[in-house]
Amino acid sequence: MAGTGAHGGVAVSTVAVVEDNADNRLLLQAILDGLYDVVEYENGIDALAGLSANLPDLVLLDISLPGMDGNEILARIRADEHLAGLPVIALTAHAMAGDREKYLSAGFNDYITKPIVDEQLLLNAMEKWLAAKNTRGL
Ligand code: MN
Repeated sequence: MAGTGAHGGVAVSTVAVVEDNADNRLLLQAILDGLYDVVEYENGIDALAGLSANLPDLVLLDISLPGMDGNEILARIRADEHLAGLPVIALTAHAMAGDREKYLSAGFNDYITKPIVDEQLLLNAMEKWLAAKNTRGL
């Protein structure tokens, strides 16, 4: 799926999905298909290399990943001057009281719990941060 064409030449935002679970990647593909260009990464090493080489507009970042977890990946994104301004939304099944505040204070822009039962909640969060990013001119 190219960056132009499906929307008649209007620029389509690119969303990086960092998720090791194939079923979750399929679900996200189904939700995001036709709305965004999606680039997928299955682990942090690949994601950090890929984000630097091909800067997306927004990142959906799973927390539970083999090797480097989502918190570590976020810390590296925020420490990288080239990547630091990226909107990053945490996707996590570890939903406990206080988690939202914990993830936001760690530097995530937003926090969505899995399984994703309300896809509009995800899409609204994505649009909010994509709009904020465009306003800042990043
Ligand atoms: Mn995972």
